[in-house]
Amino acid sequence: MGKQALGFNKALDDIAEALNSDITTSEKLRFLVKAAARALGVKGCSLMLLDVQRKRLFHAASQGLSERYLRKGFLEAEKSLTEALEGRVETIFDVATDPRIQFQELARQERIVSMLSVPVKIKGEVVGILRAYSRTQREFTVVEEQFFISVANLIGVVLELGRFNETEKQLMEAKDEPPSLLTPLSLQVKPASFAHPSEEEFARLLDFYQIEWIYEPRSFVLEWEGKAAEMFTPDFYLPALDIYVEMTTLKPGLTTEKNRKVRRLRELYPEVNIKLLARRDYDRLLAKYGHGPLAGVKTRGVGRVLFSAPKIQKRVSQLAKEVSQDYEGHHPVLVGVLRGVFCFMADLMRYLTVPADVDFMAISYYGGEGGKAVRVTMDVGIELEGCHVLLVEDIVDTGMTLSLVLNHLKARNPASLRVCTLLDKRIRRLADVHLDYVGFEVPDEFLVGYGLDYQEEYRNLPFIALMEEEKTQRRSRDTKKRPG
Ligand code: 5GP
Ligand code: MG
Repeated sequence: MGKQALGFNKALDDIAEALNSDITTSEKLRFLVKAAARALGVKGCSLMLLDVQRKRLFHAASQGLSERYLRKGFLEAEKSLTEALEGRVETIFDVATDPRIQFQELARQERIVSMLSVPVKIKGEVVGILRAYSRTQREFTVVEEQFFISVANLIGVVLELGRFNETEKQLMEAKDEPPSLLTPLSLQVKPASFAHPSEEEFARLLDFYQIEWIYEPRSFVLEWEGKAAEMFTPDFYLPALDIYVEMTTLKPGLTTEKNRKVRRLRELYPEVNIKLLARRDYDRLLAKYGHGPLAGVKTRGVGRVLFSAPKIQKRVSQLAKEVSQDYEGHHPVLVGVLRGVFCFMADLMRYLTVPADVDFMAISYYGGEGGKAVRVTMDVGIELEGCHVLLVEDIVDTGMTLSLVLNHLKARNPASLRVCTLLDKRIRRLADVHLDYVGFEVPDEFLVGYGLDYQEEYRNLPFIALMEEEKTQRRSRDTKKRPG
């Protein structure tokens, strides 16, 4: 037997042993990828899996590739590796000149010259690809290809077993919860079994806003001086927004620990965007849609006034002046999202010095009627094609509403599309949408008045104020205790 064939035999022996040992699915995958790279004598190797929509490939396990390369983003499935995704072996002899490569410059910097890709299948269905990266120009032999296909098949078995175990675990944990609760946007190979119900709820909220997410997409190695390295796996990755979200809703005791890890992550990986969603933020987020523990809290009192009526009027007139200057000679269409915006819209419009049309749209919110899909319950009646559209908002919080509405409006081909918001709760932003005109930047507090409501109350206030949250919560609990 040749030296290489012996090497392949040895690799398959080692793999068989690892697969038969008591290690986790991801450890098995890492082992397979590493063993394949070593046996082929290549620079690196990566296992990429398709997301459930089969649109993107993400690195699930890799060996020999830099963090930078792995973080290049997601490969668009239809643009790359079509042969491998169609179930065939695909070789790229020279990355520098091959049009199929999406990140040519990065690949060059990573010193990748040739690549071999084979499909990874579960019961005949392609779920991803296994790829080897060579530093030198290399024609892979049939024997090498065959070996690589064997490894890919073993990966399929590991994934299938992992999936089986997950499902089993879920069924055991689900008790009386119907299994249909398992969200459809979960990964193809890893049906999301969420560590905590709040994660699942958050995933459903993202689904509602059609924001793609990946649960526990990858682990970061956190090195600490004088201490053993730790792994940190953020809960979510939102590819379109390029942010990781870590929820600290689970146990309050873990929050400090998580904060520490997130700080370290930011130090070590400055280019990674990560958001911490604390219990309080999360409860508020849900309460906004009538869910969660804060949802039923009936608030009475209005707290501190943030913006008095004259202050609002002054700022709105300034905004109108800017808008009028920018739209000089045009006839913009102001579009507002009901209902919070009606006071601002009415004032803004009256201060404008350019002629303008006005129209409104309404959307159904998460948790409201309309179920899981976002619905535009009332659409703009004016024909927007070729128009200069100015979307007017009361407040931009996570930005999810706005990004959804913008996508809806863009589809109608306006000549231009800008955003004017009275309030910008910037620190809560998830979807980082561009705002052209901003009235005031506001803190992370729930605001009411000047059109903004709390359970349909307070819209009529001429000023904008904070809610008296803490006090009212205590009061509502007291009320319950009182007999009668
Ligand atoms: P986003 O999708 O940006 O998270 O939420 C935007 C919508 O949430 C706003 O249009 C508004 O209806 C509501 N919202 C966000 N923050 C507040 C707030 O502080 N007070 C009130 N009343 N509504 C808010
Ligand atoms: Mg609004």
